[in-house]
Amino acid sequence: MKIDCHAHFEPRMLDLDRVIAKMDAAGVDRIALIPSLNDPLPEASPALLATVRRLMRRKSTRSIAEAIHRVTIARKGQVWIPGEGRFPIYPQPDNESVANVVGAHPDRFLGWIFLNPAHDDAVLDTLERWRSVPGMIGVKLHPHWHDYKTAILGPVLGRCEELGVPVLIHLGFRSGGDFVAMSESFPKLKLIAAHAGFPFYDDLWRVASAKTPNLHVDLSSPYINEALARDAVAAMGARRCLFGTDAPYGFHEEDESYDYEEIKRWVERLPVTEDERERIFSANFEALLAP
Ligand SMILES: [Zn+2]
Repeated sequence: MKIDCHAHFEPRMLDLDRVIAKMDAAGVDRIALIPSLNDPLPEASPALLATVRRLMRRKSTRSIAEAIHRVTIARKGQVWIPGEGRFPIYPQPDNESVANVVGAHPDRFLGWIFLNPAHDDAVLDTLERWRSVPGMIGVKLHPHWHDYKTAILGPVLGRCEELGVPVLIHLGFRSGGDFVAMSESFPKLKLIAAHAGFPFYDDLWRVASAKTPNLHVDLSSPYINEALARDAVAAMGARRCLFGTDAPYGFHEEDESYDYEEIKRWVERLPVTEDERERIFSANFEALLAP
């Protein structure tokens, strides 16, 4: 069984029929979909991604990566790519688009409810509205691009802890990603840090192993590479790592469409037992979805 815990519904890049065809070809049983957060962006070059990744992995140089990020989102609600232009970030991603897909294909798709407490005064009502829809399994948060401090997440995280639903979060820099405070304030919360703990990586793994048993990471996206995925699994243990892709962003086939095999191969090549591999591919996530 293979479940991709982190992919985006972005039909402007990959329509639903092609997503299903790619799932079938790659042997991916289910995908947990996230509503799209922004207009499709030009792809960052692999060299740039590798440079930023190196900067982020060391505490001493992480602030340089943060400064680059600050420049790209200097105007609130937009991301600026030099030479390409400005692209809107949606303050409230369209949960209905994902709920519709989940409703039409309940055997293949699950849905994340995208919340933005910096924009939504009734964020707990929004959560209630969408969690009543079958197949909507948890909450996605993105303080990195929605540009807020994770300290404002208290009511949302508290409610998710109470309900026992998982939270998938793309952490921001500094107070935009205070995973220690979140884990300590909500010790039973099922928290998944996207992209192997971007932008903290090793620092998050270290803390997670020592004192935050409910903190997990997914192994998605070209924000990481195979070596970093291996390091994350070695540091955190296979029980706390989840297969995810961030499709349709990054990793392309020759026809430029998304390559569903890339991250799957990383997991297949991990130096772990078959039982651990099965956990990463599906069992860990299934356990998080159990009430
Ligand atoms: Zn993503």
